[in-house]
Parts: sequence; C-alpha cells; structure tokens
Amino acid sequence: MISETVRVRFAPSPTGHLHIGGLRTALYNYLFAKHHNGKFIIRIEDTDRNRYVEGAVENLISVLNWIGLKYDEGPDVKGEFGPYMQSQRLDIYKKYANDLLENGKAYYCFCTPERLQELREEQQRQKLPQAKYDKHCLNHTKDEIKGKFESGIPHVIRLNVPSNQKVVFDDVIRESVEFDTSNIDDQVLIKSDGFPTYHLANVVDDHLMKITHVIRGEEWLSSTPKHILLYDFLKWEKPVFAHLPLLLNPDRSKLSKRQGDVAVEDYQSKGYLKEALINFIALLGWNAGDDKEFYYLDELVEKFSLERVNKAGAVFDLQKLNWLNAEHLRKKTNSEILQMLKAEIQNSDYETLIFSDDYLLTVIETMKERVSFVKEFITNAPYFFEAPDSYEEEIVKKRWNQESAELLKALSEIYSKLDNPTKEDYEHGLKSLTELKQIGIGKIIHPLRLAVSGMGNGPGVYDILHIIGKDETIKRINKAIETLK
Ligand code: GLU
Repeated sequence: MISETVRVRFAPSPTGHLHIGGLRTALYNYLFAKHHNGKFIIRIEDTDRNRYVEGAVENLISVLNWIGLKYDEGPDVKGEFGPYMQSQRLDIYKKYANDLLENGKAYYCFCTPERLQELREEQQRQKLPQAKYDKHCLNHTKDEIKGKFESGIPHVIRLNVPSNQKVVFDDVIRESVEFDTSNIDDQVLIKSDGFPTYHLANVVDDHLMKITHVIRGEEWLSSTPKHILLYDFLKWEKPVFAHLPLLLNPDRSKLSKRQGDVAVEDYQSKGYLKEALINFIALLGWNAGDDKEFYYLDELVEKFSLERVNKAGAVFDLQKLNWLNAEHLRKKTNSEILQMLKAEIQNSDYETLIFSDDYLLTVIETMKERVSFVKEFITNAPYFFEAPDSYEEEIVKKRWNQESAELLKALSEIYSKLDNPTKEDYEHGLKSLTELKQIGIGKIIHPLRLAVSGMGNGPGVYDILHIIGKDETIKRINKAIETLK
C-alpha cells in the first residue's frame, strides 16, 4: 500500500522525435500515477546542449496531447515545483554541486582532453574492462585549485566515488540490484560549460520535485548506482526505482530504426488510432495476469501495477498492433468513423468530390469488418468513390469470357426497369436471368462484380450495387462491356 501522494515524471531529453520506447515510459508513469491518484509530471532534460534539437519539445508535447496522456505539471502546465526545463534551473544544480564539493564528495578536475585521452589509451593497453578517471585532480591543494582558477584553466566537477564499496538498491521490477563502486567512474557532475550532466540534474530534480517513483527504461539501470551515491552524499531519501524491460525487434535485437519505424509520429501519420497505440504499448512488458488484450486507457489505469511488469525484453510485434488497430476501429461508432473518413477523403485523390454523410455511412457499415485502418475504406474500396477506370487483369482472365458481355447487357436491361431498387431487387433481377438462361449464378455475378468494382473481392455485390445506385450500376456495366468486349 502506498501512503504518500505518488509523484512520477517522464523526463525526456529533447534530442529528436519521441520514440515508441519513450512513449512506453511515459505511459507506464501515467498509468501508475493515475492508478494511485497521483501526479504525472513532464520534465525536459535539456542540459546536453550538443544533442539539443530545435522543435523537439514542441513535438513531444504535441504527441503527448494527441495520444491523450494528460500531465499535471510540465513545461507548459504550471506546478509548484517548476521550472520544468532543466536549462532554466542551472543555479539550483550549482548550489548542490557546491555542497558536494564542501563535503569532499565531489572535486574540481582540470585535466585537459589530451590527458584524458592518453589515460583512456593507457587503460585500453592494459586491457582494463572499463576506462575510469584516475582521481588525479583529487590531490590538488586549495592553493593549487585557486591558482588554476586564476589562470582561467577550464574545469569540471567530478563525483568522488569511494572505492571498494557495494551499492545496493531495490528495484520493483528487478528486485535487489548490486554494483561495486570499483566499476563506477568519477562521473562528471558539472561540465566545463557550467551545465550539469544528466546524473546530477536528474537526482537534484527528482528530489526537489518530490518524485516518489522513478520509472524509466532499463538503459538507465547502470546509471542508478551513481544516483544512489548522490542521494546518500546529499542525505536525501531515495525514490523507489523501477527499470522497464528493453523493447526488442522480432529477432530479439534491440528495437531500432533499421527494422522499422520507431518514432510515434510515424505511426500517427500512417493512420494508427491512438487507442490502438496506447493499448499495444501498454502490453509491451506488462499484462494483467490474464489473456485479455483489448484495453482502453481507463481500464489500463485501473489494472496497471509495476509488480506485473516483466523483466524480460518485450518484442515489438507489428502484426499485433495492426490487429489491435482493426479491433479498436470496429468498436467505434459509425458516426465517429464518419468524421475520420471525411478527414481522410480530404487528404486523398477524392478531395474535390462531394459525398453525403448518409452515403459515407452506408459505405462504413458495409466495409467496417473488412478494414484495419480508416484509409482502407478508400484504398480497399475505391469503387465507392469513383467508377473503376481499369479492371484487375487476373480477374478479367479468370472471370470474363465471351458470354459475359451479353449476359451483363441482359442484366442491365432488367435493372433499368427497376424502380428505386432494394438490395433484394438486384438479387431477384440477377436470379431471374440465371433461370431464364439456365446458367449458374457465378457466370453473371463475377463479371458483374468486376464491372462495378474493377476487382475480384469485396463486400457482397448487391451491397455494392445498392450503395452506388441503379444509374451508376448500369453506367459501369455498359462501360465494362465496351472496354472488355
Ligand atoms: N533524460 C533521460 C532520458 O532521456 C531520463 C532518464 C530518466 O528517466 O532518469 O531518457
């Protein structure tokens, strides 16, 4: 049972587009916060000026807004603990770096990049498992330090990591995690440009922003012992840690751009529904303990717990995402789909054509079970939007023969006599012709489908006729007869 108010944060660095992995971290933080009636905070970790990408913060905010992960505090949502952009908090980090310096838990380092390079090369020659700073500058006297400052030698501030100690912490997902300080480098805390590194800024802010649970990707696990040392040195209470499993490609390599899209925006522009994306991402490393796979955000909030997050990497399965997209699409009402379809038409070749809502609603009703994406109402059934101007070659070969033209001619005569026909009227009309000619229904129905749709597959052919209407049906039959002969 968690008694204090839960406060969690998603702390992205604005280095580009929001990736699926980042969205998973944001989502799990959101679900955990909302499950416990807590607060979900966005903090922008923009202290690495070399990696800063213009527009990345705006982009991130717009993706979070689109997907519906509402935050309680953040760069554009006022809160008690702001500012929520680290670049606006530099003085705060300096203050704590100074505290650490005073207590001997950090020290100035004046080593040149050349010396550090030589050190690294020497350690590589000695085949040491990992390059580490050799604490050279720890031995400077106060006067030496003063002298270096006076001569304007650039400096950084490093963490003074004690040797041969164990750093142990609990992780909700990984249980007890242990690191040996001999494997931990004297991490730079303040860089020569005066900006803090991720490690210092992250710990200071988590403390000052009263973050109770740090939920982040597994790639940060190896940084955590440095953070634990900082909490101890600053005599601060530590938050609870939960490191989320890696996201994997189907071949179990780390999810990467090489094997497909990783930016959330790519999925947005491909027409994935936000409900499907949320549902899919929630299942990347978590399940409720049963085999239910279809969820809306509010059910996820209700069910989510960190204890049910897996340790093992989660495989990104695009098929499953596509399946969920179709499921979520089908659960939408026809009028919800209508709005989306109208927007899609505006972005299609049919943008200048006008279709009534009633017309589009019948198309939706007929096609709903046959599409996984809204745009497929158009791409799978273009014949509802314009007459075919070509006919699938394979189908022509298979289904169109010498009699077809003549049979369709007779059919169009029957249809022309119908007054305001229903679906059943089209069916009866066609059947009466098969009886008259003593032939199987297939001899007419396949050429008919080809004539009105240009394709060999689709919804029931009488549904198509009924939707496009009698005049259009006859027009298309005549055009096919002329074209295919
Ligand atoms: N700024 C880090 C990132 O880009 C945050 C890691 C953390 O949550 O501590 O993912």
